[in-house]
Formats: sequence, structure tokens, C-alpha cells
Amino acid sequence: MGKNNIDDYLGGRYHEIYERLGVKKGHQGGNWHCPFLDGHLGVDAHGSFSISNETGCYHCFTCNHSGNLITFLKKKGIDVKPFLAELGVPTSSIPKKNKKKKGWRHE
Ligand SMILES: [Zn+2]
Repeated sequence: MGKNNIDDYLGGRYHEIYERLGVKKGHQGGNWHCPFLDGHLGVDAHGSFSISNETGCYHCFTCNHSGNLITFLKKKGIDVKPFLAELGVPTSSIPKKNKKKKGWRHE
């Protein structure tokens, strides 16, 4: 199998990448400080933010934010393609934008 998935390029490096994006390691248990808590609930002193080094998926047990590296970059207002290109991920391996669901609920 060739490399065709973003995780094939970045799996095992996600912690390093999030650290570079300013997410800080917590004091205990390998958890991190939630980058979304600043500003509205104060600094997350406990480190309740969990990041998978293999998939880049994150979840915060305090504010319930979850997502992956791409959603994180978007939340931070960082251009996804140039950022990933710099990490060696070819554009073809970057998941396409989610198509907007045309549900009757959102119109
Ligand atoms: Zn949080």
C-alpha cells in the first residue's frame, strides 16, 4: 500500500505538530492543556485535552471540543494546504472539504 492518507505522513508526529501550534503539555498523564479554554473559562490548569499521536484526533474532556488536525487548523485560522505541504503532505492526500449537507434542517 502506498502513502495516500494524511496519517501515513503525519502519524506519530502529531504531538510534535500540535506542540508547534502552541498546544501545551499538561503536567500529568500525557494530557494537554485545552487550547480552546483560554478566553472564556480561563486556562485549563488540569490538562484535560487528549491528542492521539497516531491520528491527530483530539478531544477535550472539559469543554467537549473534538476534531482532527485539519479542523484544528481551521479553528485557528491557519491555511491548511500550505501548513501540511510544509510537513511533507502532498495536496492529493489532504481530505477534501466536507460537502455541505443539504438537509432540510439547514437551508
Ligand atoms: Zn477544552
